[in-house]
Amino acid sequence: MAARGSPLKYKRLLLKLSGEALMGQQDYGIDMSVVDRLSRDIEGITAAGAEVAIVIGGGNIFRGLSGAAKGMDRATADYMGMLATVMNALAFQNALDHQGVASRVLSAIPMPTVCESYVRPKALGYLSKSQVVLFAAGTGNPFFTTDTAAVLRAIEMNCEVVLKATQVDGIYSADPKKDPNAERFDRLSYSEVLAKDLKVMDGAAIALARDNGLPLIVGSIEEPGNLLKVLRGEARQTIIEATG
Ligand code: UDP
Repeated sequence: MAARGSPLKYKRLLLKLSGEALMGQQDYGIDMSVVDRLSRDIEGITAAGAEVAIVIGGGNIFRGLSGAAKGMDRATADYMGMLATVMNALAFQNALDHQGVASRVLSAIPMPTVCESYVRPKALGYLSKSQVVLFAAGTGNPFFTTDTAAVLRAIEMNCEVVLKATQVDGIYSADPKKDPNAERFDRLSYSEVLAKDLKVMDGAAIALARDNGLPLIVGSIEEPGNLLKVLRGEARQTIIEATG
């Protein structure tokens, strides 16, 4: 049943959550109360008719670069980072289950006793049946990030937009929590994000979105219900898209 309210601007979206988004106030790992809250928001947008794909990072558990900094081989450390994203995806699926939202975890690294492997037509089929698809293990390749995985999967899934969830209501010229003079942008082009080195997503992800004309929205999901507002075009957010 569709929820009441203004219609959705975007029907099929990919939500990119960083690992830190699952951490809450903790220094490490998964705070299930935060995951439960986020999954209620997902329930809200699926009830409103959205088809939802999710890519979750792994930075709350392990980051390849920090492993490499401690002397580990970078590729090995990156595989560990990808495994961390699988843990997060499983935790999120569990929370979605509790909300009564049907979901699938599809991993770019096959691990058949844990979850399904990523196969594009299978994922498309789940989305069109309104099941939430959680893409785990990033792109499956070291030296990439889950931001790039998010843009890649969004293009493969014909998503209309990628929503990158952050703790603030858009992109600023500097960290607004540290610099009171930071300028906030409503709208940016891909090349502005790259030229200003705005660090909202890595350059590879921005370039892939640009080359495929995929809009990126950066907004907060800190307040419950904001995700639905973003999809209705009612939230404060920054949109990155082709201009002119
Ligand atoms: N990673 C990778 N290839 C990918 C995606 C992720 O090697 O396609 C590894 C990389 O080590 C990264 C870690 O997984 O540091 C966690 O992902 P990310 O840092 O993107 O997570 P987030 O910052 O969103 O929590």
